[in-house]
Amino acid sequence: MTLVVVGASLAGLRAVEAARQAGFTGRIVLIGAEEHLPYDRPPLSKAFLEDAEPTVPTYRTGQALREDLGVELMLGTAATGLDVAGRAVLVGGQAVRYDGLVLATGAAARKSPLPGVRTLRTLDDAIAVREALDAGARTVVIGAGFIGSEIASGARARGLDVTVVEALPTPLVRAVGAQMGEICADLHRRNGTGLRCGVQVTSFDEGRVTLSDGVVLPADLVVAGVGAVPATGWLEGSGLTLDDGVVCDETLRAGPGIYAAGDVARWHNPAFGRSMRLEHWTSAAEQARVAARNAIDPAGAAVCRVVPYFWSDWYGDRIQFAGVPAADEVRVVDDGPGRLVALYREGGRLAGALTLNGRAKVMKYRGLIQRGASWAEGLAFAAAGKNVNVDKGGVPV
Ligand code: FAD
Repeated sequence: MTLVVVGASLAGLRAVEAARQAGFTGRIVLIGAEEHLPYDRPPLSKAFLEDAEPTVPTYRTGQALREDLGVELMLGTAATGLDVAGRAVLVGGQAVRYDGLVLATGAAARKSPLPGVRTLRTLDDAIAVREALDAGARTVVIGAGFIGSEIASGARARGLDVTVVEALPTPLVRAVGAQMGEICADLHRRNGTGLRCGVQVTSFDEGRVTLSDGVVLPADLVVAGVGAVPATGWLEGSGLTLDDGVVCDETLRAGPGIYAAGDVARWHNPAFGRSMRLEHWTSAAEQARVAARNAIDPAGAAVCRVVPYFWSDWYGDRIQFAGVPAADEVRVVDDGPGRLVALYREGGRLAGALTLNGRAKVMKYRGLIQRGASWAEGLAFAAAGKNVNVDKGGVPV
């Protein structure tokens, strides 16, 4: 049996590892568009920009991949098509046959239409942004999302002038809701980053950025952090359903023998009874394990139940969020100096929890949400705070 994994990043690598952990002894082919070995993206907008001597966050050596995991690596080679009936991935003129297939092609940064504006998605992007910061670039970040905010934080860590320009009146509304978006935005102001909301960048040239309200900002480096689009172009015409991602059922199945995982996968998440596509590190790894096991054993396919979780580090503070921010009510709980917990209610259920500098605490909330805890339980848990014990799965006992 041959397992083919397309996309050699987090989800692709975790899929390979999970297949081997499950005892799969067949052939595994890992196809990746980038020349690089699989590497970790979160450090690219954090330590990689800030550290004096940054290291490339590669997960495993090529030798470890080939010898320990028995993987045939096809790097620097983008898959160009998929023959569902013939069970083959097309790589240029070559057909790579599979019995089981995991699609893990992730997402690509949404580009700005303005020439000269950079993005930060890949290692090569991060090297370019870092070089500009090393040269002391006056920086403008388009979009006050998490990656843009981390870039701003990295620029401030070097004492550089940086302004974040956000088209919406409040940042991060879709990610954490308006109330907490405002609180997160305050971190910029307190750390000397300019924040201009409700305006757009209309031009960038000759060291200047012009905003839609006529304001002109000096800028040597402009980086857009305006979201990502799932990498599904190569699957057009394959017959798979594509709709802001590869559409999958609750087992991550997209077609015969075909499963998807990570940023590219849109699936019916039974944990919330709705269709979701996540762009978070933890869920990409979790989905990959399920997708790989299902791809090698479709008859025993398991459902993929995930409570979304992400973290983001700005100015030495850590923001973490578990669950979903679609809420009927948000309750902010004081958690001591420089810390807070915000709970999100949907109907009678605890749907989400945000912590600022809550570190391990957020996983306890994730466990509560996973088991469908009521809003009252969530509030009681927050009130009890440190006195509540958790088991290894993060579930209060
Ligand atoms: P990706 O990492 O996007 O990898 C997909 C791979 O597939 C890429 O290497 C791509 O080149 C390859 N590919 C695409 N098309 C093809 C093709 N046709 N053929 C072959 N290969 C192809 N998440 C958090 O939870 N917390 C964080 O703090 C955080 N920080 C982040 C910081 C940055 C700068 C970025 C970019 C992301 C961050 N994330 C964070 C998100 C997290 O990194 C992603 O959710 C995760 O990388 C998704 O993994 P993936 O394998 O699904 O996709």
